[in-house]
Amino acid sequence: MTTFEGLGLDARLVQATDALGYNQPTPIQEQAIPVLISGTKDLVGLAQTGTGKTAAFGLPLLHLIDAEKRIPQALIVCPTRELCIQIVNEMESFKKFLPRVSILAVYGGTSVGMQIRDLKRGVQIVVATPGRLIDLIERKAIDLGEIKYVVLDEADEMLNMGFQDDIEFILKNTPQRDSTWLFSATMPAEIRRVSKKYMTSPVEITVGKVNTGNKNIDHQFYVTNAQHRYQTLKRLIDFNPGIYGIIFTRTKADAQAIAERLTREGYDIDALHGDLTQQQRDKVMGDFRDKVLQLLIATDVAARGIDVQGITHVINYELPDDVEVYTHRSGRTGRAGLTGVCMSIVHSREIGKLRQIERMVQAPFHKVEIPSGKDVCRKQFFNFMDKLLQADISHGDYETYVPMLAEKFAEISKEEVLKRVAAMEFDRFLKYYENAEDLNVRERLRQPWERNDSRNDFQGGPNRRKDRREYGAANGDSTKLFVNLGTKDGFYKASFLQFILDMSDLKKEALGRIDMKEMNSWIEVERSAAPKMIRAIDGKNYKGRRIRMNEANSR
Ligand code: AMP
Repeated sequence: MTTFEGLGLDARLVQATDALGYNQPTPIQEQAIPVLISGTKDLVGLAQTGTGKTAAFGLPLLHLIDAEKRIPQALIVCPTRELCIQIVNEMESFKKFLPRVSILAVYGGTSVGMQIRDLKRGVQIVVATPGRLIDLIERKAIDLGEIKYVVLDEADEMLNMGFQDDIEFILKNTPQRDSTWLFSATMPAEIRRVSKKYMTSPVEITVGKVNTGNKNIDHQFYVTNAQHRYQTLKRLIDFNPGIYGIIFTRTKADAQAIAERLTREGYDIDALHGDLTQQQRDKVMGDFRDKVLQLLIATDVAARGIDVQGITHVINYELPDDVEVYTHRSGRTGRAGLTGVCMSIVHSREIGKLRQIERMVQAPFHKVEIPSGKDVCRKQFFNFMDKLLQADISHGDYETYVPMLAEKFAEISKEEVLKRVAAMEFDRFLKYYENAEDLNVRERLRQPWERNDSRNDFQGGPNRRKDRREYGAANGDSTKLFVNLGTKDGFYKASFLQFILDMSDLKKEALGRIDMKEMNSWIEVERSAAPKMIRAIDGKNYKGRRIRMNEANSR
């Protein structure tokens, strides 16, 4: 039997694994640890969460770094704040007998000031999310000059989340990096490209089956308030015009009430739950199979054993308590080689539970913005245009009617006809979504920061602000927004300004100074206009990358 001692680890690390009750290295640990501590430079590990990969890179890092040097020597980059915290917690227990080693997590959504202070205290290992790390690099608050080891954890997930440029930026900004260890559950072409560009003949280790679980299912989640669940559900349905799906609720009463409400609002839906007679159940199932119903809403018990082909979406109106149940629900889609989407509507307090499910399902879950009213209308509009263009006019005797039509519409332009057709189809959406609110629950907005460098200048007194003003007023109360777009994205200040104005529908006068860097920019904006701008821009895509916008952080 292989032991941690046999892998050649420092005795104090072996002691820590003993203390943790790890009797035996897992396969990825057994393969990766000896290779990494022997000084192998680059490694690609194909392994999922749950395989013990944190220890597979964490133990070698602790073995290799110089505990006497109080400067960052290793950098672990991972996609989410939760994963950051999890990695640090595990690493803390591995370093139980190495008191001189410090590990720090840096991630967005919390005070950057405190993280900067912690960095100054001297740490050897930094665990970071890409966005916050770049923020720190650009503030010159972190010294990467002596980073020798860079670990990219859940690299495929980081690319999914649009962090590709950020990762390359990080790799380029670690001049002394001589080892890069990349861990990923899957190996898309983009990861191959990154590894080819930034790594030298990496050792490749694969454990388990890559892509276990149903790789045809895209797991998405949407964060909203409990009182907005119904509207969120409706928005998700409206945003997916071709949906053929099952919605799961926890209770019969919910299934029934939602089915009734959606039916009243014009949807082809029925409920399946335990209070129905066998005959009623057969009727509902028959209608769903025949696609008379576009949607079925069901409780878990009632839906047991249902096997319907071609389901495009499963929607969890609420998360199930049990992971098994999640797998059961999501498995209704993505069958027989088809792809499917499993969407979960969650409350912000349920994120922990969601991550637990994610670990068990062993597939990455993507946080997706709840579409805005405008997004829904646009989507419906495009769908309608497609339907219009694809309408089959080869069979009917339409030619007979064309002269009549031509006469009837002689006075009306083509544009006008199209508008009227669209109005007939869209009125319900346009009216419903006219003043639709943002249903997303967002992270607490950051405060303007208080640093004493050039970027803080606009925080000076009113006169300074006035001097620095570049566009319009931003007079009175203003705030500064951070956005992860910069010159790297091909923007100059003028084109960037135009882009922001187009996206947000704001007037130029609402904006103040724009400060552009390679990867990120900072925009001064009237405080009252900031939420509108964030709503319009945050979460949208730019050239396939997810835009992040929030108030620039303070302490
Ligand atoms: P990871 O894939 O790193 O998220 O690890 C999954 C879980 O396995 C974590 O809870 C670890 O604490 C645990 N673990 C890692 N290595 C071992 C081991 N050799 N023996 C037992 N448990 C382990």
